[in-house]
Amino acid sequence: MNRFDYIRPTTVAEAVAAAAMPGSAYLAAGTNLLDLMKGGVVRPARLVDVSRLPGLDGIESLPDGGLRIGARVRNAELAHDPDFSRRFPAVAEALLSGASAQLRNAATVGGNLLQRTRCAYFYDPASACNKRDPGAGCDARGGENRLHAVLGWSEHCIATHPSDFCVPLVALDAVVEIEGPAGRREVALEEFHRLPGETPERESVLSPGELVVALRLPAEAARFAPHARYVKLRERTSYAFAVVSAAAALRIEDGVIAEARLSLGGVALKPWRARAAEAALSGARPDAASFRRAAEAALEGARPSGDNAFKIELARRIAARALALAAAGTPERLPALPASPLAPGAVLHG
Ligand code: SF4
Repeated sequence: MNRFDYIRPTTVAEAVAAAAMPGSAYLAAGTNLLDLMKGGVVRPARLVDVSRLPGLDGIESLPDGGLRIGARVRNAELAHDPDFSRRFPAVAEALLSGASAQLRNAATVGGNLLQRTRCAYFYDPASACNKRDPGAGCDARGGENRLHAVLGWSEHCIATHPSDFCVPLVALDAVVEIEGPAGRREVALEEFHRLPGETPERESVLSPGELVVALRLPAEAARFAPHARYVKLRERTSYAFAVVSAAAALRIEDGVIAEARLSLGGVALKPWRARAAEAALSGARPDAASFRRAAEAALEGARPSGDNAFKIELARRIAARALALAAAGTPERLPALPASPLAPGAVLHG
């Protein structure tokens, strides 16, 4: 048993002051952190419980047409919010494809952003892991690595980011609101997570004591609602992390793609915005040839980090499929298997 202090602040300012002390960790739903503590993977000296902090649990329409989501909003609550799922259907689809119903009822928006990789060696304190123990090495290199990264990885870490939620959010230019010892700041979600480089232990741009207080979606993101989908390929139908996933959002005018958004999950240590693919789609016709070209551009520079070369072609196919489903139109109701390539309308051998 590792001893730790437990603090339950009543304001954001108190929480930030408490968590600025070395060895602190924020506790929200604890769906990831408590497992890590029980497994001896992390050993915080102090838990700062933010699960009851006031002011972080609202879903609020902004005067400029954007939406602000408090960090304590539960995944299920957000996905089932009618206004949210109507305006941002791909995000709702991604949320409902993640974890299990029980976990979605507990897990928070802020915690989803900050969940740790599911690399099995990270969760096993007997294995060498640069992320858990900087400088120790990486047992995933040369180990069981078929689900590891094909983009943005380094010799020091080949893990992937596990979130579904973050993938469409990155495509839709979500912004993270952060409160910390130096005050409030905002970071584009695309810049929030870090690639491993030489410091895989540093997973986000957060400094000690900084707390995610909200996420914002800009008004423009809702313009993609008629043509927005998330597609997730996993090894079983539910309660599994993505082997690869893709979020696609299109604005189609007069039979031509006026604007495209595309991002990938399960391929890198951060949700991967495919800007070259988006540029390739601008002005193109929404057809299979355009989507295949975009998928090629999305995986440009991809290389296997181990026994996972198959993920590169798989990711191309999932990207093309997400684009085709988005072009076909957002369904009136979410499919029975959210984000599944087997959902109605999917082209199984495109
Ligand atoms: Fe650790 Fe990253 Fe290597 Fe996994 S891939 S063992 S998380 S350093």
